[in-house]
Amino acid sequence: MMNGKEYLKTLRAMKTVLYIDGEEVADFASHPVMKPAVNALKATYDLASDPELNPELHRLITAESDLTGGKISRFLKIVKSQDDLMARMKLQRTMMRYTGGCFGGRCVAGAVINALWSVTHDVDKASKGQTNYHERFNKYMTMCQENDLTVSGNITDAKGDRSLPPHRQADPDLYVRIVERTPDGIIVNGAKLQQSGAPIAHERLVVPTTALGPNDEAYAVAFSVPGDAKGVIHVNDSACSNAKFIAMETEDIGNAAFGMHQSAHILFDNVFVPWERVFLCGEWKATASLVHRFSDFQRFASSACRCGYIDLSIGAGAAMADYNGVAGKTHVQDKLINMSVDAETLYGLVAGSAALATATDSGVMLPETLSINAAKIYMNDAILRAGQTLADIGGGILITRPSSRDLKIPKVGELLAKYHKGREGVDVHDRLKMARLCESLSGLSAPTTILSVIAAGPPATQRLNFRLMTDFKRDRKAAERLAGILSSQK
Ligand SMILES: Cc1cc2nc3c(=O)[nH]c(=O)nc-3n(C[C@H](O)[C@H](O)[C@H](O)COP(=O)(O)OP(=O)(O)OC[C@H]3O[C@@H](n4cnc5c(N)ncnc54)[C@H](O)[C@@H]3O)c2cc1C
Repeated sequence: MMNGKEYLKTLRAMKTVLYIDGEEVADFASHPVMKPAVNALKATYDLASDPELNPELHRLITAESDLTGGKISRFLKIVKSQDDLMARMKLQRTMMRYTGGCFGGRCVAGAVINALWSVTHDVDKASKGQTNYHERFNKYMTMCQENDLTVSGNITDAKGDRSLPPHRQADPDLYVRIVERTPDGIIVNGAKLQQSGAPIAHERLVVPTTALGPNDEAYAVAFSVPGDAKGVIHVNDSACSNAKFIAMETEDIGNAAFGMHQSAHILFDNVFVPWERVFLCGEWKATASLVHRFSDFQRFASSACRCGYIDLSIGAGAAMADYNGVAGKTHVQDKLINMSVDAETLYGLVAGSAALATATDSGVMLPETLSINAAKIYMNDAILRAGQTLADIGGGILITRPSSRDLKIPKVGELLAKYHKGREGVDVHDRLKMARLCESLSGLSAPTTILSVIAAGPPATQRLNFRLMTDFKRDRKAAERLAGILSSQK
């Protein structure tokens, strides 16, 4: 298996076209916006190749392949048992606790790979030998496993007017489509937008984003191309958070090593795909189960991943509370416990979907639909609650902290350090670093939300008014009268 250095070498050997903020960047692996995402993906290679680095993660991130018979990355494994599903779930949570940021969208590939594995099997069976998509996909997956490649799963189309199916869009390219079939393969046009970790992966694995009807046959296409195939263009996302990786000192960023998330738009400009890399070509009837299966797999991976994110938020909140000298306060402990309850409730739902999984004809195990969708819905709110809780526990320092350059201003820097100290015994720089990690994890980088939670006093101070001013005596009397404990006159 490749180590991180070897992964970087393969990435640099590719001629991937990537634009970042208006400029084409050749050595994008070193670009400040891309480096954290590259580091996170690189870590997956280091952990898989070196058992000593982190034995628990090494065990989780590697698996035996039933295609090659060798050791492979679990991200490329076909999920064929409940144990496989459980191992994927544990990997997602533990890996997220390790990086705190997206590890190159490897989970999306898992969703697409397993869905395609099962659907190509079903299509070939239904066609009674007229198609051989499954055999092609088997060869493709064997190649990816043998070469330890990172695959980017590409689902989301441009979609134009969301109320219209692909064939009724004003522009026919708003969903990726086959524009020509040739004796050697197909030519495709279109775009896949907001693709996690796409430019830093070796392969693009493309599937339709929605269930299609008979008029959308040209859009029922699944295929793969190397990331540097002719006509494949990437444009990096322009998330506002990119700016801090360019402008700020490492210490001020929060999670400078692994960042938060990186995605890019992929434009397919008349790209040729040889037949051996075409896995669906016009089979619109298969798209409904394809979409259903990859959606559930993706919700499975991302819900498990967010448990690790909440774990990390609990850790950051606990550290910040300690640095502030309030670790022992009941309301702080209650808040940390609530986060933990959220993480375990979410994990329980994910595990439930694995426990109730069903096998497809191909052997792929599908997580149970209702429990995994309940998990995803629960996760949406749990993540927001965790962010708000971090802002509440940490205080305004999360967004207002002085920068490390401020701290170097002669005399003023010393004064700033003096006034930003927390409890005795804690280095002010540690408190400032942890504050910025909390800010980053909270996802509340725009001041408005943190300001709304914490400014004008943290929520515990508003609750204090209720403790002091609620007429508990009056209300208790009313209850005791109704229960027949006090006479009705009292
Ligand atoms: C950071 C990030 C990373 C991502 N990574 C990946 C990735 O790796 N691979 C990938 O394939 N995708 C990825 N995505 C894309 C993600 O799956 C989509 O954002 C998601 O499916 C929603 O699509 P959209 O953004 O186009 O929103 P829209 O589809 O425009 O949805 C916006 C709103 O409109 C509603 N809506 C849309 N269509 C209809 C309709 N027909 N009827 C009624 N209501 C409708 C939706 O319910 C929603 O409320 C990523 C997205 C983000 C933000």
